[in-house]
Amino acid sequence: METTMDKVVALCKRRGFIFQSSEIYGGLNGFWDYGPLGVELKRNVKDAWWRDMVTNHDEFSVPPSAPQAFAMTGLDCSIIMHPQVWKVSGHFDLFCDYMTDCRETKRRYRIDQMRGRWVEYPRATQDERLSKFATQRFFIITDADTPEAGIEDTALRARKFFGRQYEKEMKWQSETMIGLARTDDLRHVLAPDASEPGTLTEPREFNLMFKTIVGARGGADDAAFLRPETAQGIFANFKNVCDTVRVRVPFGICQIGKSFRNEITPRNFTFRSREFEQMELEFFCHPKESRDWYTYWRDRRYQWYLNLGLKRERLQLRDHAQDELSHYSVGTADIEYAFPFLEKGEFGELEGVAHRGDFDLRSHMEGKLVRDAEGHLNPELGPDGKPKHAGSGKDLSYFDDQARERFVPHVIEPSAGADRATLAFICEAYTEDQQPDEKGEMQTRVLMKFHPRLAPIKVAVLPLVKKDGMPEMGLEIYRALKAAGIASYFDQQAAIGKRYRRQDEIGTPWCLTVDGQSLQDKTVTLRDRDTLEQRRVSVDTIVDEITQRLRQ
Ligand code: ATP
Repeated sequence: METTMDKVVALCKRRGFIFQSSEIYGGLNGFWDYGPLGVELKRNVKDAWWRDMVTNHDEFSVPPSAPQAFAMTGLDCSIIMHPQVWKVSGHFDLFCDYMTDCRETKRRYRIDQMRGRWVEYPRATQDERLSKFATQRFFIITDADTPEAGIEDTALRARKFFGRQYEKEMKWQSETMIGLARTDDLRHVLAPDASEPGTLTEPREFNLMFKTIVGARGGADDAAFLRPETAQGIFANFKNVCDTVRVRVPFGICQIGKSFRNEITPRNFTFRSREFEQMELEFFCHPKESRDWYTYWRDRRYQWYLNLGLKRERLQLRDHAQDELSHYSVGTADIEYAFPFLEKGEFGELEGVAHRGDFDLRSHMEGKLVRDAEGHLNPELGPDGKPKHAGSGKDLSYFDDQARERFVPHVIEPSAGADRATLAFICEAYTEDQQPDEKGEMQTRVLMKFHPRLAPIKVAVLPLVKKDGMPEMGLEIYRALKAAGIASYFDQQAAIGKRYRRQDEIGTPWCLTVDGQSLQDKTVTLRDRDTLEQRRVSVDTIVDEITQRLRQ
């Protein structure tokens, strides 16, 4: 059965994974709350990342495929930083999207996300509504998410606006608004829900950073920004880290934290939100070795998602083409997932792995950098000949005391979104199968096949009936699991089949059932969510057994 976004969103709401923010007031577009199970799931995603990148990293051995051993450390920086940080990083000048407003519906759109189709009418037609336009070609924007729905939607709207008799003579072509918005006559664009073509305004740039004011008496000059990425806090602290802990280049600094982008069109559930969490790693290395480190991190990060259960057929590693690269980047690859809201064959970004050269550290030393005609990075100059946005002036180079060499390290940046990863794990986990119920009739079972490391609850302890000492024995097992730090759940309400289904639907990998035999021989049944296999295990070894399974 196909996993659709509607099913995933409904389950998230029904089972308390994700709610709309401020729902009782009608919600706020682009903001989401994680419910009791969602918060555990997302925390497990972040913990898995932190543990695999930082806590469990062994700095004295060479990981498979790594050029050499290296250290990993962490930071937790403030969300609001000195405004100069964003001027120097380029976000102040460059972090923009093109957007357009519909004068009629008052809706706002991001140009690169608008899709539509050209419809053409025969020149011979003498229609009053068409005759006032210079051409008889119109670009009809659609809100639809799939090509089929797009065709239907366009046909419907064309019929409504131009009259039924033209329907068969249309020529179809799917395009986005990019390019079109600046080169073509916007008078011939029919916006979603607009009743006439030509209601869109000229596209304009829109900075995605949220502005705020620092201090009670703050004026316009005290404007600060909510960070649009966590990375800059790491660059700004590079020297602090080098000076205070025992690290030598190559090494990495990790950070997990909230970022904010005033996205013009937040959409697709949590995929594009205005407040989200990032898991960023800045890896500092010698310029001569940076290409090898880039390949290492790109491949390792791709493998991380596979290890946690995303399927290869829905996960792709896409190297950017040369013309797609940022001006400072030697190479960038995106790790992408085939989310159910995308068209067949399309993928959405989960994480970007970028080779950033020495762009960031140099910018914070010298000021905002731009590439000159020969391809060299130099500070961008203002009209007075001085750097347009001055850097800190601090020396952020690194001295290798063994090689007796000073250099500005290159940076490899794997930058992941905690919310997008969580959403991908949710979409991947969603499964439906057919199972007989108590009466032997086939029923659709919904189960979330989360990797045990990610599952919000690892074990549910279920006394078969609420008597004969079964609840007491169940509680004892539940408490032993809790004491071992294993997220467990105790449930003695309703029929056992119903309780199993409830646990399947929230992705609990194992159920332990206490029955009549348990009291005699101190064993319980261990039921597997995915295979439905049940076997008896000793109560004395159950905590070890679960601990063992969680390590796999
Ligand atoms: P996109 O092209 O989808 O806007 P991006 O290339 O701007 O993303 P980056 O700046 O590379 O994204 O940010 C790194 C990661 O942060 C992304 O891969 C994604 O997982 C996450 N991220 C970025 N923007 C958002 C958002 N609006 N909502 C949720 N996650 C986001």
